[in-house]
Amino acid sequence: MKILHASAECFGLAKTGGLADVVHALSLASYRHADVRICIPSYRGVFARLRNTCEIASLEIYGYPVRVLEGELDAVTPPIWLIDCPDLFDRPGDPYRDRSGRDYPDNALRFGLFSRAVALLVSGAAEWQPNLLHLHDWQAGLAAAWSKRLRPSLPVLFTIHNLAYQGVFDRATFDLLELPAEWWDIEGVEYWGGFCFIKGGLNFSDAITTVSPSYAEEIKTPAFGCGLDGVLRKRSNELFGLLNGIDAEHWNPAADPLIETCYSRANVTEGKRRNRHALQRLLGLAPMEVPLFIFIGRLADQKGADLLLAAREEIAALPLQLVFLAAGDAGLEQACRAWASEMPERVAALIRMDEALAHRLTAAADFQLMPSRFEPCGLSQLYAQRYGTVPVVRATGGLRDTVIDLNADTLADQSATGILFAEADVDGVLSGIRRALRLYQSKSSLLAVRRAGMSKDFSWDKAAARYLELYRELIPAPAISATSPASVQ
Ligand code: ADP
Repeated sequence: MKILHASAECFGLAKTGGLADVVHALSLASYRHADVRICIPSYRGVFARLRNTCEIASLEIYGYPVRVLEGELDAVTPPIWLIDCPDLFDRPGDPYRDRSGRDYPDNALRFGLFSRAVALLVSGAAEWQPNLLHLHDWQAGLAAAWSKRLRPSLPVLFTIHNLAYQGVFDRATFDLLELPAEWWDIEGVEYWGGFCFIKGGLNFSDAITTVSPSYAEEIKTPAFGCGLDGVLRKRSNELFGLLNGIDAEHWNPAADPLIETCYSRANVTEGKRRNRHALQRLLGLAPMEVPLFIFIGRLADQKGADLLLAAREEIAALPLQLVFLAAGDAGLEQACRAWASEMPERVAALIRMDEALAHRLTAAADFQLMPSRFEPCGLSQLYAQRYGTVPVVRATGGLRDTVIDLNADTLADQSATGILFAEADVDGVLSGIRRALRLYQSKSSLLAVRRAGMSKDFSWDKAAARYLELYRELIPAPAISATSPASVQ
């Protein structure tokens, strides 16, 4: 099997959220069984992280010269293909926004060019040709439509990491991108008088996956379908919910170079205590013996940080400390900072993306808060469980699929791994926090829940096997047997 992934993010090169982790870890896990390449745009600084780079194709798209470069990230990651178009990608800021947090005004052109480049590559422009194209999220959505036009026989799998981000633009942009007139159709990419990139992935792919079984069901309903539930209901026979995994080596409390003290199931209580003390010192929090809650995530409506802020007074009255590691909405960033400066001994706000701090916080914390309004899969609650940090999460999407709620039965059979609350509102969040505080009172129950979480296997090996099975189903049999064993890693 020869698989090309195309994504706007890949861990180690460009990351704003879970998409990067998933593309990287899935590619790594499947690389043991298939020949894999990962294609991403060449954002500023990305080229410099690769070794042994060479040019594998040179294209012209929308009047821009585009070089395609291949290089190595490290000894284990599959080869990376960079779509190099400096005018569009060599910019300060993150993959989608400038330094002040505003979306680049030409994102349609940027990812329209990226998608078209991917389709050209898989239809002859590159020497190495995949026998399946695996596309991720809206930024790569049009690559499904283009590749079906240029190489109809190539199977295309499209993965929805988050349906709320769709890449919606107007008719003038449709014309600018020279999209074929027949795509301006409900069965094409047309969308409520405009068009959206993600519909390219939904309507032109051979199969669709999303990142948890619950989310796969939810997005077929108007409440979670973000206007696309009709399309997804129509494709429900080809829509699969495959749970994400985690990179269990990179996220391993027993051997994590980023944390103060490594620990395992056997010494989790002591290990966490030491990490908590170190974090308290680092952040200037009071050295109190109270449970430490953390929130790590994007400050966007989806993640519900605003609910924590709205419950500020009630939370302040509870015996706990709280640390935010988060970035996003400027108003929420400011509100987190303001709360931390009012109560510096008990609340800290780290307003930035910081991978190393995410590890330190996860190791130090007792509880991880995720009051998400919706959650396709969520990774932070998986990392939390691996580190013996008890997730306190809203019962939705992948959170529902990966956290086993604490109750008398699950405590008795030692299967409980966290706390689920029903509503994404202030009362819901507070009920979750109060249940966490009660759990904290019983050292033996807390230890049992921590250990149950740490015993879970969320590794990609299991998850990748399901993707490999799906790849095999989608690739016509002769194409697989024609792949020479020598090309399979
Ligand atoms: P999403 O993809 O919706 O943002 P996920 O839970 O799937 O949410 O993945 C989020 C990933 O990004 C996790 O790896 C999490 O640790 C990381 N992350 C989010 N915010 C930050 C931050 N401010 N600093 C470091 N890591 C972060």
